[in-house]
Amino acid sequence: MHGSHAADQRHAEAMAAEISLRPTAASYHAAIGNGMPGWYDEGRAHAWLPYSQMKTAAPPLPVVGTRGSRILLADGRELVDGVASWWTACHGYNHPHIRAAVAAQLDTMPHVMLGGLLHEPAARLATRLATLLPGDLDHVFFSDSGSVAVEVAMKMAVQSWINRGVRGRTRFVAFRGGYHGDTTGTMAVCDPDEGMHSLFRGLLPEHLIVDLPVDEARTEALDRLLAARADEIAGILVEPLVQGAGGMLFHDAEVLRTLRRLADRHDVLLIFDEIFVGFGRTGTLFACEAADVVPDIVTVGKALTGGTLPLAATVASRRVFGAFWSDDPMHALMHGPTYMGNPLACAAALASIDLFAREPRLDQVRAIETQLGAGLASCRGLPGVVDVRVRGAIGVVELDRIDIAALKARFVEQGVYIRPFGRIVYLTPALTIEADDLARLTDAIVAVLSEP
Ligand SMILES: *Cc1c(COP(=O)(O)O)cnc(C)c1O
Repeated sequence: MHGSHAADQRHAEAMAAEISLRPTAASYHAAIGNGMPGWYDEGRAHAWLPYSQMKTAAPPLPVVGTRGSRILLADGRELVDGVASWWTACHGYNHPHIRAAVAAQLDTMPHVMLGGLLHEPAARLATRLATLLPGDLDHVFFSDSGSVAVEVAMKMAVQSWINRGVRGRTRFVAFRGGYHGDTTGTMAVCDPDEGMHSLFRGLLPEHLIVDLPVDEARTEALDRLLAARADEIAGILVEPLVQGAGGMLFHDAEVLRTLRRLADRHDVLLIFDEIFVGFGRTGTLFACEAADVVPDIVTVGKALTGGTLPLAATVASRRVFGAFWSDDPMHALMHGPTYMGNPLACAAALASIDLFAREPRLDQVRAIETQLGAGLASCRGLPGVVDVRVRGAIGVVELDRIDIAALKARFVEQGVYIRPFGRIVYLTPALTIEADDLARLTDAIVAVLSEP
């Protein structure tokens, strides 16, 4: 015990010495010259970045501003953004309509809790989401991140059974290739190999992660699983049409109709996680519209505020909400994020939804789809490329192997911001991106992947 403590101590001292040397980011200075802002050098020792080996990863780029589809760096360079900040910034950065709405709300009421109170931005946004979503998806529970919205959907599903007097339905069916968040509850419904499952085994509840019913054999397998175990299953959880962060994998709308049919046959709830696909990404405002399927619960997040403020929502059908509507206080939904329904974020979301109504976003998605198809076509046949696929404003080049760090650096040298992961290089640009900027993104991918 003592020996390992001493070793830990030595490791900590060596690390502190190394960290105090690293903030100058010598390699990065060499690459971009002088002019590194003071906050950058100081803060690099303290700011812990996501999914990043802080010791060996390339230093982060110092960003000082955003505009449209551009990211502005401290040295004056502008990168064309192919990611739109994890596909949130659907109208481009700094859209004046959203900025004005948030500024006006800031003057009135930046925040007040929803505990016992209801304010205009949350009320209007709940109404608007209930109107936009199909069928009787009418009851909106706000939260502050996508992972929490999925956690709420899972708790909602489980408790809806309990409230109806049915015990033991605590498991979910979810799918290989899926991604639903990084919190403990949502990790357990992510792809077991792609996700962080194995690392956290023992912490996570066990769910049933199976293949999407894309063909007859897999449909029958899922049907048999549900027949055998429906009495332990609360619901089926799926990212409709595109599994995003698990690998940008596409499936047909028919798969969603199959899931609806199976969920009905075995009386389990169907949950669509639209956090990636929602707000136009695949060509319709919501992916469920393309399949003409009404799920029992939907989660939205990411592009909900047009990429300006954190906000997510879990929207339930009348049937699910009905299970909580009771004279028994114990039947209330036991959840309440502190900042749920934050007025600034709701104002941003309302303004973002205005833009979908006012501006031709879905036409823009179709134009992006066409341009991505043409612009990435020549990647087919390049060495190492195993697939090129496009759906809506999502373009994917899948490789048989990939040097992520080298690719990231080459893209920055080309003046574009593109973040490969797994074995894919992908684009999820702002839906408002100019054709010239989109061409710079696809040209950069073709150029870099053509290099020996
Ligand atoms: C990003 C994402 C989440 C998690 O959202 P956070 O806001 O990062 O917690 C959940 N589901 C899907 C489909 C996502 O793409």
